[in-house]
Amino acid sequence: MKKVILIIIDGLGDETAEQLGGTPLEYIAPKAETFNMFAENGLCGLLYPIAPGVAPASDTGHLSIFGYDIRKEYPGRGYFEALGANIKPKPNQIAFRTNLASVIPKNKELIVIDRRAGRISGEEAEELYRALDEKLSENGFPAKIIHTLEHRGVLVIEGDEYLGAVTDTDPHEVGVPICASEPWERLSPSEREMAERTANILNEITKLAYDVLNKHPINKMREERGLPKANVILIRGGGISKTIMSFREKWGFKAAFVAAGALYKGVARALGMDEIHVEGATGTPKTNLNGKVEGALRALDKGYDFVFLHIKAADNLSHDKKPLEKADFLLRINHALKPILGLEDTVVVITGDHTTSSIRGRHMGLPVPMVIWSKEEMRRDRVKKFCESACAEGGLGVLRGHDLMQLILDLSDRSVEYGTYPSKSKLVLSVF
Ligand code: ZN
Ligand code: ZN
Repeated sequence: MKKVILIIIDGLGDETAEQLGGTPLEYIAPKAETFNMFAENGLCGLLYPIAPGVAPASDTGHLSIFGYDIRKEYPGRGYFEALGANIKPKPNQIAFRTNLASVIPKNKELIVIDRRAGRISGEEAEELYRALDEKLSENGFPAKIIHTLEHRGVLVIEGDEYLGAVTDTDPHEVGVPICASEPWERLSPSEREMAERTANILNEITKLAYDVLNKHPINKMREERGLPKANVILIRGGGISKTIMSFREKWGFKAAFVAAGALYKGVARALGMDEIHVEGATGTPKTNLNGKVEGALRALDKGYDFVFLHIKAADNLSHDKKPLEKADFLLRINHALKPILGLEDTVVVITGDHTTSSIRGRHMGLPVPMVIWSKEEMRRDRVKKFCESACAEGGLGVLRGHDLMQLILDLSDRSVEYGTYPSKSKLVLSVF
């Protein structure tokens, strides 16, 4: 049986940018030697991580690719963010994902002008989250807020009387007011009552956040430096906690992961994958790509037979509408992946969790390119480049996310013929 490395480049697919004469991947294709080696010696195709036209969020895109039924097994984004920040939500806790954001007040409303407050990070973000957390406990909120990465954080509400089935305060666009949270539709009367309580708390926390953060000295300093104020938090990703079957139980792999972003760590931890820590892995364009690849190789040496390697910043650059910077970053990934071409007895899959258009700045339901490679003999196709247009001609055709694990089992020699029942135990029948 072969080992497996699944490399997910966040927001890999894109649209055609006029300035590049193609997508970022198509633009770098003539010089992306490593990507092209995988394509030339592997099987290519296109992947709809969830389904055609469905724009995946990063967590649902990943879960679907890992072969989980997101309609039944999705616990809500906040749950993963919390796990990623080393908080395991208890049954009476609800976790939400938060952003530090920039708003300006207008007619009693708070108009969002930057959903990520200029991608504030480091000590400044840490300090603002800490200041808000102190005020939450001073004011008796049954809540805690913690900084994770860049502008992001996790808000946890505790109490049996609350339910996470509430809408986001994050309007998911700029130039519009922050939304009031409210219960989801189609809840039972008792669920509705609990969700209403939660929504009220989120709305109160949002007001408190503006009050505390807008006048915070850090924001005064940011204003003087011409930076957007991080003067509110946007809350999103409520949900109802569920237990998810482990990756090992579902597919039989002993899996490890290399990832920097809290959300991806959270998804991998929720599935029972073990973390391989890599120094300098940040989830930003400056991340330690070589170190991440080394980390993945180290995991294989340590006896893991499945490694999930996540690379984040391609998605951020697409949200920021920077196709050229995305292309440069993809080229750096291409260089960093070179040592993987030396692996024997390993199935390597490179794909993305969704298309992120660097024209529109958002996730889309268009397919992402995909390649499956192994050094040993396997079926190959005629595709010689790794990009959207070349992979569309590939031998795998067009797949959905939930097909991928089955294909990985087959190519790594783990599949059994459909309709047969081989024994999985080591038990030998004794006839004496
Ligand atoms: Zn993503
Ligand atoms: Zn994204």
